[in-house]
Amino acid sequence: MSPVLRLFAILSLSLLPAIALPYGPVPEAGCPILEATDPESRQSLMHFVCFYSAAPGDPAHDAHSPDDLPENLNWRLASGHDLVFSHTKSVYWVRLNVENTGSRQALWYLKLNYPLLDEVTFWQTGDGPNTHLVTGDQRPFDARGIDYRYFLLPVTLAEGETRSITLRVRSSGALNVPLTFETPEEVIAKSNHLTLTHGLFYGALLVFAVFNLLLFFSSGTAYYFYNAFYMAAMGLFMFAMGGFANQYFWPDSTGFANTSIPLSLALCALSMTLFGRSFLEVERKTMAGTAMTALAWFCIGFLALTLLLPYSKTILLNTVLALSVIGSLFVIAVVRWRHGYQPAMWYVLAWLVMLLGGLIYALAAFGYLADFLAREALMQVAVGGQVVLLNYAMVQRWRLLNEKLLEVEHNARTELEFKVHERTAQLRNTMRELEKANRQLATLSLNDSLTGLHNRRHMDNILPELCAEARRTRQPLTLALVDADHFKTVNDTWGHAFGDTFLQLIADILTRHVKRPRDVAVRFGGEEFALLLPGTDIPGARKVCEAILHDIATTSLTSPDGHAAKITLSAGVASLAHGEDRTSLFDRADEALYRAKSRGRNRVVVSDHSFVDKA
Ligand code: GH3
Ligand code: MG
Ligand code: MG
Repeated sequence: MSPVLRLFAILSLSLLPAIALPYGPVPEAGCPILEATDPESRQSLMHFVCFYSAAPGDPAHDAHSPDDLPENLNWRLASGHDLVFSHTKSVYWVRLNVENTGSRQALWYLKLNYPLLDEVTFWQTGDGPNTHLVTGDQRPFDARGIDYRYFLLPVTLAEGETRSITLRVRSSGALNVPLTFETPEEVIAKSNHLTLTHGLFYGALLVFAVFNLLLFFSSGTAYYFYNAFYMAAMGLFMFAMGGFANQYFWPDSTGFANTSIPLSLALCALSMTLFGRSFLEVERKTMAGTAMTALAWFCIGFLALTLLLPYSKTILLNTVLALSVIGSLFVIAVVRWRHGYQPAMWYVLAWLVMLLGGLIYALAAFGYLADFLAREALMQVAVGGQVVLLNYAMVQRWRLLNEKLLEVEHNARTELEFKVHERTAQLRNTMRELEKANRQLATLSLNDSLTGLHNRRHMDNILPELCAEARRTRQPLTLALVDADHFKTVNDTWGHAFGDTFLQLIADILTRHVKRPRDVAVRFGGEEFALLLPGTDIPGARKVCEAILHDIATTSLTSPDGHAAKITLSAGVASLAHGEDRTSLFDRADEALYRAKSRGRNRVVVSDHSFVDKA
């Protein structure tokens, strides 16, 4: 049998007495007498208990002591069943006759295992002194005489003594009178076992609540706070229901003993709503969100009502409220689950268990569940199970969030890497283009745009280096300056554009003749050219220049007016002398050129002035 089925079985068995209404008539001899020393008789105590229910108006309803009861009171026999009555205005009289058939005086306890009764009065009458004890949760806790959450009546019986114990019970809630008659040893043993169970239950609840509170403080996530709130409210409710709250929290606040139950119930409902809304991620603007906000406000309203209305009303109202909250949250959780929100599954499971707990509580609250201890244990199992499942649900939710976060992070990283790659590629392209542009710029800045030869800037750059190298290696360096003869006339006759074509022709011829890798041809002025010839001596340079002059003189270009136009060149050549600088070299070549011009042009003149070191 599954645990859930087993729970239902226990539940149905506990319900049985209330459904069957099994109380029987009292034998003619009156209420039977219990042999206190006989454990078996004590076990079947409820076969010895008689009771009378006195409705308002009945003389027994207002009787102040057993002596005031009418003689012919119609007692009934409990017939082995617990005395369980739903909300009632009646007063219940209960009678138990006990006899000590043992050989010595002994102590027993009559235990009333239900802590929430407003008013309980015990009378003991018989052979010994008559006593009475007035107690109930509408009196300060120490009125009980014994510091215990249930009502304990010590019954001391001398050898052979018979006593009649009468109880009068009145309460504004469900009226349960579960009785046991136990030896002190039995009371201690049972109390020990229960203490352990309760300690574990409330301890676990407290640890969960504190843990969730810590999680809230460190993460700032609201549902951890609501979960802690819920567990604290649930713990308080169970604590109050179990009679512990009266015993430990407000032993002297008689008014609060009753109020605390509907109050903690409303707190439970409020915390359940807040936790549910936050955990299930219900959007505020949806229908479910509006319903939950309304529920939360209802809970707050009911909290206030609890302080204003009488207990008998608020306990009903708040029970209906709590069941509505549980039901609504269950439906919303199922819907969320079906919409694919995975953590809602665990929440639904937790809520299924809670529905069971709510049912048990409601049955008990309305007096349909007899066995208080079994009911308390069942509630603890339900609440404990729910708390564990809820916390597991939170772990699932956390895991889901974490997975989402990792996914987002992964996507972001991938996207970032992609972007970085893209940008790097773009940057590389730009750099390449920039380099190309730079190279073009460098070429442009060192070359002449009309002829493609190097320009004056290039000559100025390399001439000092060539001079230094020639001095170092003692190799010759020869400079030839070449100038077009009467070029002005070409321009004047055929136009500037044709003059340009001639300049390009000269450049082509110069390039053709300057063959060595290190030779440089330069256009350094309008129709003025220079040849830098490292490693070439004067005779070599003269040869090159004469070949150039010959080529140009024998080449003609067709002029715009259809003539074969020709041109000649003059050249001045000088070679770098020992200790000479480039300015002097240039001057000497220029001077030689000047002489070539003055001697009739179309010729090569070598600088015959040897260099004189002015220093
Ligand atoms: P000389 O034989 O004495 O060198 O006579 P020349 O006419 O060549 O000498 P001059 O220095 O008086 O004239 C140079 C001419 O070259 C003047 C100018 O119009 C022309 N010239 C200079 N640069 C360019 C150019 O880039 N293109 C053209 N078409 N003509 C140019
Ligand atoms: Mg000139
Ligand atoms: Mg000229």
